[in-house]
Amino acid sequence: MTVAASPVTLDDWFVRDLGGLYQPWAAAPSPSPELVALNEDLAAELGVDAAALQSPEGVAVLAGAAVPTGATPVAMAYAGHQFGNYSPRLGDGRALLLGELTDTAGRRRDLHLKGSGRTPFARGGDGRATLGPMLREYVVGEAMHALGIPTTRALAVVTTGETVMRETPLPGAVLARVASSHLRVGTFQYAAATRDADLLRRLTDHAIARHHPQAAEAERPALALLESVVEAQAALVAQWMDVGFVHGVMNTDNMTISGETIDYGPCAFLDAYDPATVFSSIDHGGRYAFGNQPQAAQWNLARFAESLLTMIADDPEQAIEPATAVVSSFGERFTRHRSAGLHAKIGLVGEHTELVRDLVTLLTDQHPDHTRFFRGLSAAARGNASPVLDLVVDRDAVDAWLTRWRTALGSQERQVAESADAMDRVNPVYIPRNHHVEAALDAAVAGDHAPFHRLVDVVAHPYAERPGLEDYAKGDPSATGYVTYCGT
Ligand code: AMP
Ligand code: MG
Repeated sequence: MTVAASPVTLDDWFVRDLGGLYQPWAAAPSPSPELVALNEDLAAELGVDAAALQSPEGVAVLAGAAVPTGATPVAMAYAGHQFGNYSPRLGDGRALLLGELTDTAGRRRDLHLKGSGRTPFARGGDGRATLGPMLREYVVGEAMHALGIPTTRALAVVTTGETVMRETPLPGAVLARVASSHLRVGTFQYAAATRDADLLRRLTDHAIARHHPQAAEAERPALALLESVVEAQAALVAQWMDVGFVHGVMNTDNMTISGETIDYGPCAFLDAYDPATVFSSIDHGGRYAFGNQPQAAQWNLARFAESLLTMIADDPEQAIEPATAVVSSFGERFTRHRSAGLHAKIGLVGEHTELVRDLVTLLTDQHPDHTRFFRGLSAAARGNASPVLDLVVDRDAVDAWLTRWRTALGSQERQVAESADAMDRVNPVYIPRNHHVEAALDAAVAGDHAPFHRLVDVVAHPYAERPGLEDYAKGDPSATGYVTYCGT
């Protein structure tokens, strides 16, 4: 049904352009939808009236029970390599694209529902989502956004009134997600596998128009698209690592063409720095461990390049060499972004490669709390090194590094105090600490939403220390090893 007073009007650009990549579908009914969380900041950015979304008509749209004006809900088709194994047909098994809207800055954004019932792509799944994981997606996405990292964002989470069976019965929920698009590497893999050249051409043109319009001017637009995506992903993964983020499921169906982070499943932020950190219980080999993320991204981009070969040159053999060169440039691009990120985190302008390299070695050897260590460096710059030294075992080694670093800081053009302030603008105090996320989600599932809302507020303002929030700035005091944060 279409609602009488639609809280939002949508376009159907994806549907118009990309027949062959979706199936029109309707959400399963929700017996009694209730709004748990509404992102009013995002609603304002989208130019959508928050009060209208809170009305019964609005909640019906957010739950999938009503179709907004202009929308053609579809389940999107995509393929994907999951932990290295290719599945030719994944697709939205429990999600629907409602359509696009233009935000107040003139950007096109997708509105999409996750947990809205089985679709033709559901395979054995029940099509449902449960409250905890949808709230995790909300809070982690808001944290990433506040940290300045490209990400999809939650507009709302609605409970459906249904009980969903997982290991235990849990409240069913629907996440309304906003993304600059839901085009993934897996979308291209799917289109390429159909061997329908027209479909792959339409997808390539759509992706270029939507995300990397400058590529249209290039001699070989598909190659330029590949290069843009390689660059966007190199920048993205470097930004993840600057804040200690582990995505957890970097399958090709979870890597966007836009360069936004998508699908917050078994993701988490590091407490102690260790490149081998894995949070997903199913990632046995550590394929998506913190320190492996650049390699995983590059591997996915190679799959993207393969799917584009026939678009790059009439004879795909001729496309292999230039495409390989672009994919190979990932390493250099990533290193450049990561190095710039680390230089900013230690407040240095110019090239201080050895200082950065030696710091990473110290972190790897001593496993200090990642977030507190970097935040503590501004205190060390201002004369108090204990916030940093109290986090490490070998104080002498770190002290020696601090001495070299202070010399570098002191010989910069800007004042040390200015450098310290600049560091405080890139090194967060507050990240979504795993134990706080777990506690907030558990409370919400038990009916108390207050800790979740408090946590969202904390992580939405990551850089300025606020009195009373000390506990949110600390790692898990009971952590004895790496806990698995999983669940979908
Ligand atoms: P994800 O690991 O969340 O990226 O999902 C991988 C694939 O599994 C996608 O095709 C999802 O649509 C599908 N999927 C995950 N959970 C369910 C579910 N409960 N019901 C149907 N499909 C699902
Ligand atoms: Mg996914």
